[in-house]
Amino acid sequence: MTDPDLLVIGGGPAGIAAAVRAADAGASVMLVEMRPALGGAFHRRPIEGVEPWPIGREGERRWARLDEGLVRTGIVPRLRTAFLGLDGAGAALLEDRVAGRVEACHPRAIILATGALESVRPRPGWHRPGVVTAGGLQVMMKETGRIPEGRILLAGSGPLLIALAGQLTARGRPPVAVVEAADPFTEMVAGLGLLAHPRHLAEAAVHLGRLALARVPWRRATVLEAITPKGDAFEVRLRDRRGRRTTLEVDHVALHDGIRPNDHGLPAANETPGAGPIVVSAGDGREVLGVVAAEIDGERAADRALALIDGRPEATRDHLRRLARERHAQAVLARVFAPARPLDPLETLPDDTVLCRCEGRTVGDLKVLFTGADTPAGREIKLTGRFAMGLCQGRFCAHWVAEASARLGPDAPAPRPRDLTGDRWPARPVPIAALAAVPDAPKR
Ligand SMILES: Cc1cc2nc3c(=O)[nH]c(=O)nc-3n(C[C@H](O)[C@H](O)[C@H](O)COP(=O)(O)OP(=O)(O)OC[C@H]3O[C@@H](n4cnc5c(N)ncnc54)[C@H](O)[C@@H]3O)c2cc1C
Repeated sequence: MTDPDLLVIGGGPAGIAAAVRAADAGASVMLVEMRPALGGAFHRRPIEGVEPWPIGREGERRWARLDEGLVRTGIVPRLRTAFLGLDGAGAALLEDRVAGRVEACHPRAIILATGALESVRPRPGWHRPGVVTAGGLQVMMKETGRIPEGRILLAGSGPLLIALAGQLTARGRPPVAVVEAADPFTEMVAGLGLLAHPRHLAEAAVHLGRLALARVPWRRATVLEAITPKGDAFEVRLRDRRGRRTTLEVDHVALHDGIRPNDHGLPAANETPGAGPIVVSAGDGREVLGVVAAEIDGERAADRALALIDGRPEATRDHLRRLARERHAQAVLARVFAPARPLDPLETLPDDTVLCRCEGRTVGDLKVLFTGADTPAGREIKLTGRFAMGLCQGRFCAHWVAEASARLGPDAPAPRPRDLTGDRWPARPVPIAALAAVPDAPKR
């Protein structure tokens, strides 16, 4: 493998924009993506033989520009290739998932554009087969063009639920309902801030219009409390703003409670030349600002990396101004979608609610750890309690376990999610045999 100047991790808009920008500036670039197709969460390309999922004219125009950039610069992305981390000698380890082989690479700089992770609040039954994340369902539909048969319920909080509901409706498969913990209509003053962002307003209007025409209920200020299997289906229990409870029977539940940067098992930023490869983050993996910001931030990150390795000039001002605008839009959306009632992680959860899916550890198991004389620290919760100890190493549960632990031990320093996940690579699970066979690559 020839070592590139710049290794870009992630084939979403941030990674592609970074790779194209750096190649345009004359740097040699390697772009790796662990999935079989480029596009990331929003622009995910379909598998062969499947029609691309409609993402609107504006989205399609943006994707065409990214694609054209790759063709123009001659960058051939390495698909099905996962970045595992930086080893002790500063080599970037890449897993070729087709060959089952791990390779070492010594770029001068690395851009981490690994996107966001979806958050799902634990509630009884959230871990059952057939309960998925809304983003996961959306990505599956984009890749395969298929929508699961049966009645689908979308629940949680955030604009993604409305987007997905609108897309399902446009495909003739409206969801049974959208259950939203916030009440965006009561946040009118905050919502006025969206007038400065007509793109977001127009997108929301299209989706909400579709839902209204198809008579899909948007049950605001309502939470999904529990999911119970009922034959081949699920019975879900909802609680509205007045505390009234109702049940629904559905075949699929898709949950979503926001997104946060995916920095799981990744190396820390390094902007010190001479101390190993330069590491710069970009896109949702640095700060969740959405799909337009991801492209802008990818370019900014490429400029930053090239400035650090070669002293090339950075065109930072314009990038930062445009990012500030997207940050404002996200701040307004966060206020509009703030839960109508504060959601305490433990308030409504029975003791047998699973918190850590991989190890099957429950709310009750966590409470037991807090019955001793000393409040357990994050590492003890992991090592003794086995929370965040399974295959995903806390990718899904660490935030909730940390939040619940802070409530259970209010007098001790609150554990950080990082105390549970640890700061170690690999970023993705990898067979030990593949790691052991890594050849010693000569350092550049
Ligand atoms: C589940 C989900 C659904 C979303 N839906 C919408 C929507 O409907 N509308 C909207 O406007 N915005 C949506 N967003 C937000 C939007 O997708 C993002 O803002 C935008 O895609 C961010 O671009 P990015 O390049 O930073 O990350 P992404 O687009 O997420 O791309 C990151 C890429 O990195 C790859 N990757 C991650 N780790 C590794 C690794 N270790 N090795 C190799 N590759 C790796 C991933 O496979 C992915 O392709 C969604 C986000 C998520 C997470």
